[in-house]
This record gives sequence, C-alpha cells and structure tokens, in this order.
Amino acid sequence: MVKGTALVCPQYGRACPGYDPRERRWRHLDSYQFRTPVVVQVPRVQCLEHGCLTINVPWADQNSRYTCCLKPS
Ligand SMILES: [Zn+2]
Repeated sequence: MVKGTALVCPQYGRACPGYDPRERRWRHLDSYQFRTPVVVQVPRVQCLEHGCLTINVPWADQNSRYTCCLKPS
C-alpha cells in the first residue's frame, strides 16, 4: 500500500490518508483438528479526529479476534 492512499476511517466512514499496514490475526473455523489462523496486513488510516486506526474488514467485527463464522452466540 502506498502511504497517503485514500482510505476510510472506521469510526465515521470519512476519507482519510492511509498510514501503514498492521498485521492482524483472526481465528477461523478449525479444519478438522487444525487451527486455521487468518493473518492479514490490514492498512491503517491516519484520521485527523481519531488518530491511527486499522480499517474495518468484511470478515470480522471491529476488535473481534474471530472471523464472522466463529461469532459467539
Ligand atoms: Zn476518524
């Protein structure tokens, strides 16, 4: 990702410049007995109001350590 790329603040959906990627991990459904981690370099935005925040990802809720498939009910 190029520094300064326009991304969207996860708080209010306002366009913000990109900052840097941050590695995040989620736990996905196990495949048989094997754990299936999801490891992604997620871009962060530099929001003037909220500071540096990682953008929202479609496969997990914000701040969740699990993918949507493992959402606790
Ligand atoms: Zn913001």
